[in-house]
Amino acid sequence: MKIVILLFMLKIYNTLSKKKEKFKAICNGNINLYVCGSTVYDLCHVGHARTFVFFDIMVRYLRFIGYNVKYVRNITDIDNKILNKAKENEESVFSLTNRMILEMSYDFCNLNILSPDLEPRVTDNIKCIIDLIIILLKKKYAYLAKNGDVLFSIDSYSRYGYLSGQNLKLLKNRIRYNYSKNNFSDFVLWKRVDYGECIWNSPWGFGRPGWHIECSAISQKYLGVHYDIHGGGSDLIFPHHENEIAQSICAYNNGYVNYWMHTGLVIFDKKKISKSNGNFFNLKYILSKYSVDCLRYFLISSHYRNILYYNDDNIYNAKNSLKKIYNALYGTNYLVSTFSEDDFKIRFCQAMNDDFNIPKVISILFELVDEINIFKKKNNFLIANKLSSRLIELFSILGIRFLKLNKKINFKNNDKKYNLIKKLILKRDNARRSCNWSIADKIRNKLYSLGVVVEDSLHRSIWKIK
Ligand SMILES: [Zn+2]
Repeated sequence: MKIVILLFMLKIYNTLSKKKEKFKAICNGNINLYVCGSTVYDLCHVGHARTFVFFDIMVRYLRFIGYNVKYVRNITDIDNKILNKAKENEESVFSLTNRMILEMSYDFCNLNILSPDLEPRVTDNIKCIIDLIIILLKKKYAYLAKNGDVLFSIDSYSRYGYLSGQNLKLLKNRIRYNYSKNNFSDFVLWKRVDYGECIWNSPWGFGRPGWHIECSAISQKYLGVHYDIHGGGSDLIFPHHENEIAQSICAYNNGYVNYWMHTGLVIFDKKKISKSNGNFFNLKYILSKYSVDCLRYFLISSHYRNILYYNDDNIYNAKNSLKKIYNALYGTNYLVSTFSEDDFKIRFCQAMNDDFNIPKVISILFELVDEINIFKKKNNFLIANKLSSRLIELFSILGIRFLKLNKKINFKNNDKKYNLIKKLILKRDNARRSCNWSIADKIRNKLYSLGVVVEDSLHRSIWKIK
């Protein structure tokens, strides 16, 4: 069976219909994907890692079977949590968010998460957010409340609650009465704020966008009004994604998203985590304790929609499984060319096509490990080498690189390089703020020589690795 045939067999569990559906792209061979990114007020934790590692694997696989994927993941760089944290730290919002974006990029890069094609920041997209609110007001799906906020009227959208299955009557009892709202559950599109940092002018006065409107506006700007897949953590189903659907469908009168995908929660048991210094959930801390391969292996050990239990036992199991694979690969030459097609590759794709059943994929890859051991015992290295090569190829789609096998990768050097990049970016930001353009240009060239491309916009610089 050819990979191209497998392309038509993909099934995805759609949170909207609550069942596995045959995947059909809007535009043949192309997939537009939007995933809600992080709110950058603190360091990333294992919950973020799970969601973004899963979508990273999904994108790698879809490209592997021949799809052309456009992947957009936003960055929420304005939000109450950010404002509060900046105040607590006595630093500007810009300094906090820029610092956290650097840390996030570093952690994700270390975790071998490929960069999305576009990573738009909310504060760079205020205009398209305002434009969307104008449409909703014009169409009477939104209204200006007495306190100056613009609110979405959930009564105006009859299918509100469909994605999450929320019972709005129960919801009403839970939500505190607010005199500015027509309905208790109406949510903010534009928050009126007259003073303070990070406010923008709008037809309704100064203020800031509400959280939900950013994803409707940004996804429409980069992927159009109707696109294939929208993903995120399951904690975003309500209210965030429910509200996104209401906003986008009411504004554009179109299908919005065909497939909604959500990753399960990560639950951790303090008693089962050996070191409880408060950092155990923090990605940097985990990466200092375990290898990248081990962490990725652990993160994909449970089906992406199921709960993942984060505890020492489960990480130990991941470590042990990797050890078995290392042992099988030991002594083989995995740089030889593989078979053109084989049963393992086909079964790998079949399991991935079944709503990305990665635990099943891993069990298939362990059959491959057993085969390698058998041929090694028989001293048949011609076949053992080809199978090892296949094993490395298929694990690479899961983003697992078997770093110990590759002596060229040196993390200490990577850390040093990163610290230098970080220093240079912050130095350049300061130079730009004091209009010292020649220094800013010199630093940009230095960064380029280190493999970092810097793109300047009016208020900030965005960097990415070449
Ligand atoms: Zn979002």
